[in-house]
Amino acid sequence: MTSDFLQALQAVLPRKAILIEASDRAAYETDWRHIHRHPAICVALPENAGQVAAVVKLCAGAGVAVVPQGGNTGLVAGGVPVAGAPQIVLSLKRMNKIRDFDPIGNSITVEAGVTLQEVQQAALAGEKMFPISLGAEGTAQIGGVISTNAGGLQVLSYGSMRRQVLGLEVVLADGRIWNGLRALRKDNTGFDLKQLFIGGEGMLGIITAATLNLLPEVSGRATALAGVATLKAALDLFQSLRAQAGAAMTMCEFISAPAMALSLAHIPDGRRPLDAAAYLLVEFSAHGEPAGIISLLETTLEAALSDEIATDVIIAQSERERAELMRIRETISEGELAEGGAVKHDISVPIGRIPETIRAVEALIAQKFSDCRLNIFGHLGDGNLHVNVRPPAGQTLQHLDSRKAEITNEIETIAVARGGSFSAEHGIGQMRIAGMKTHKSEVELDLMRMLKLAFDPSRILSPGKMLP
Ligand SMILES: Cc1cc2nc3c(=O)[nH]c(=O)nc-3n(C[C@H](O)[C@H](O)[C@H](O)COP(=O)(O)OP(=O)(O)OC[C@H]3O[C@@H](n4cnc5c(N)ncnc54)[C@H](O)[C@@H]3O)c2cc1C
Repeated sequence: MTSDFLQALQAVLPRKAILIEASDRAAYETDWRHIHRHPAICVALPENAGQVAAVVKLCAGAGVAVVPQGGNTGLVAGGVPVAGAPQIVLSLKRMNKIRDFDPIGNSITVEAGVTLQEVQQAALAGEKMFPISLGAEGTAQIGGVISTNAGGLQVLSYGSMRRQVLGLEVVLADGRIWNGLRALRKDNTGFDLKQLFIGGEGMLGIITAATLNLLPEVSGRATALAGVATLKAALDLFQSLRAQAGAAMTMCEFISAPAMALSLAHIPDGRRPLDAAAYLLVEFSAHGEPAGIISLLETTLEAALSDEIATDVIIAQSERERAELMRIRETISEGELAEGGAVKHDISVPIGRIPETIRAVEALIAQKFSDCRLNIFGHLGDGNLHVNVRPPAGQTLQHLDSRKAEITNEIETIAVARGGSFSAEHGIGQMRIAGMKTHKSEVELDLMRMLKLAFDPSRILSPGKMLP
C-alpha cells in the first residue's frame, strides 16, 4: 500500500518535494521538545494551494491521514504524527510568498509558510507594524501561528492572532479550496467561517494563505525591567502602569527568579540586570511623539520605587539595551529545554487571581512533589502563566514520567477552580487531551465533535489530536 501511495503521490508532486528517507523525515516527525516522535509515510512539501489540494484528495482516497506542519515550534505536539494511523506530514514551508501588500487598506496577504518574523519585517518595510511577537517568531509560520491562535508578548494591547486575521484560503478535507481571502473590516454575510480555522490546529482544514491586519508603525518604545519582592507587588505594579498608560502599555511579562536564572545560563555572557525575588518586563509604545511615553514610564516607575512596590528598575536607554532585556524573556524556554526540560503548563486565570494561583501551585509542589523545581513565567498582563515543573537537580525529565499526569491534572485543576483555562495559548495537540476530558463539558465536546464531523467526515486531518 505504501509504495502504491508513494507512486500516486509522485503524480501530483515533484519527487524532490517528497521526503521518504528516515533521516530526511526525522526532524518533521519529532516535536520541538523532542518528546513525541512517530514515523510518517513521507513528508510532502507542496508549493501552492493546488498541490496541497491534490495531496489531500489523494490521501482522502487512500485512507492516509494528513498532519499539517508549519515551523514545528508548537508546544503541544500538534504538528507531528501520532501512533496508530498511516499518515503523512504536510509541510507548508515551501509556500513562502508574500502575495500582496496594501498600504491603504492596511493589510498583507501571505502564504502559510511565511514566517512570523518575515511578516513583521515586510510590515516594517512598508512603514506598518504587525503586532504578534513571540520567542519562536523566526521559525513559526503564519499558518501555524493562525492554527494555534498564538498569543505572545503583546496580546495585552493588540489581542492574539485571531484579531489580526482578515481572511483565509483553506484546503478542505475533501480537497476543495475555499478562497476566503477577503481584506474587509466589515462582512456580516452568514457564519464567519474563518474563525473556525483560527485556533483549529489543522483539524478542520489546511490554511494555505492569509490576509492579515497591519497597524501603523510604532514611533517609539519605552522598555523596563522592574524587580518586585512579592506577587502582590507584581500585580500592584501592573495595575499602576496600566492605569497610567492604558492601551499604550503593550507588554507586561512576569519572570520568576528561577526563570531568569535559566535564561541567563543559556545566553552567552548573560548577566543578571538586577537582583529581585521576581521581575516584570514592561513596555509602553507610542504612535506619535515618543518622548511622552518615556517620561510616563519613568515617572510611574519612580513612584513605584518610592511606594516600595518595585524594589529596583532598569529602563532601556537604547535599542541594544531593549534587545538585551527582550532576549532574557525570549530565551527562558530554550534555557529550560537545554537544562533538561520540564512538565509544562500554560494556564490562564482572571488577572486578580494570579498571586493566589501561584501560591497554590507552590504549596502543591512543596506538599506533594517536593523534590521538583518550579519555573514560572508568562504574560502577566493577560493572566497567562507558564507553570513548568522541572525534575530534581541531576535527574532527566523521564524521572517524572510516572508522576507527570498527576502533576498536570493538579496544576490544571488549580487554574480551572479559579475560573481559568488549562491551555491559554498553546492549544491542545496531543498533550492536553486529558485536560479536555477532565475540564470541558460534554456539551462543548459534542459541539466540537459535530464540527469535526461536518468538516472532515473521514477524519483524515490530524487524527489523535485535540478531541478525546
Ligand atoms: C521558544 C518558543 C516560544 C514560544 N512562545 C509562544 C508565545 O509566546 N505564545 C504562543 O502562543 N506560543 C508560543 N510558542 C508556541 C509556538 O511558537 C506557537 O504555537 C506557533 O504559533 C506555532 O507555529 P508553527 O508554525 O511552528 O506551528 P507548528 O508547530 O508547525 O503547528 C502547530 C499546530 O498548527 C497546525 N498547523 C501548522 N500549520 C498549519 C496550516 N498551514 N494549516 C492548518 N494547520 C496548521 C499543526 O498541525 C499543529 O497542530 C512558543 C514556542 C517556542 C518554541
